[in-house]
Amino acid sequence: MGNESYETALAGLTKLLSVKGDQEPIATTKIDQVTEELQGVDSQSFNLVERMKTGFIHFKKEKYEKNLTLYDDLAKGQSPKFMVFACSDSRVCPSNILNLQPGEAFMVRNIANMVPPYDQTRYSGVGAAIEYAVLHLKVENIVVIGHSCCGGIKGLMSLPDDGSTSTDFIEEWVKICLPAKEKVKSENGSLPLPQQCSECEKEAVNVSLSNLLTYPFVRDGLMKKSLALKGGYYDFINGSFELWGLEFNLTHSPSV
Ligand SMILES: [Zn+2]
Repeated sequence: MGNESYETALAGLTKLLSVKGDQEPIATTKIDQVTEELQGVDSQSFNLVERMKTGFIHFKKEKYEKNLTLYDDLAKGQSPKFMVFACSDSRVCPSNILNLQPGEAFMVRNIANMVPPYDQTRYSGVGAAIEYAVLHLKVENIVVIGHSCCGGIKGLMSLPDDGSTSTDFIEEWVKICLPAKEKVKSENGSLPLPQQCSECEKEAVNVSLSNLLTYPFVRDGLMKKSLALKGGYYDFINGSFELWGLEFNLTHSPSV
């Protein structure tokens, strides 16, 4: 965002927050809330500043200061072996569930842990992360991790057949894994929705793994065997984790 558009956006926000008329009480309440939070006043039994502070102090005492050699090495650079795709869902942080340490995994988290196909315009953010991980960090594994009760997958399974949408971004994003929905509907369409969603949570991982093949540098890594792709599934209801590999025969057909 250039300076001009930043300033325009800021001016718009200021105007919105100081708008006169009917909305004034709401805007005033919002400003009061923000001010209270910034001043460290606990307005809703949840003190953001205090939570961040105690969290960092805990991390620094228990992890950083007890592993100074590790953090000293990491200060010089990173060479993670894994690239991990995981959902933005607050319950499925890969660092927690797989005990991944700083420096071990280069990560992308988004709605329903989806890897879109190669597209320099629509999906440049994800493409840049994959390109950096594969070509510069030279990760050896890309792992896409799905999970139980995924809201994004439920959204995908609930998309209206007429193609209409009611969200600005979410539905368009989850459509990346429409092939997974179609497979589940055709093979398990008679199951109750929650079970179809569970199936789709895993099938969507496979669609993402296939989409990874649309990136030339990923295909090259697979051909040279310097890179492997894995699917994963974390079930937080049963407390289990599955990992699977997909064998792609790329020797004769680089266009797979
Ligand atoms: Zn999710």
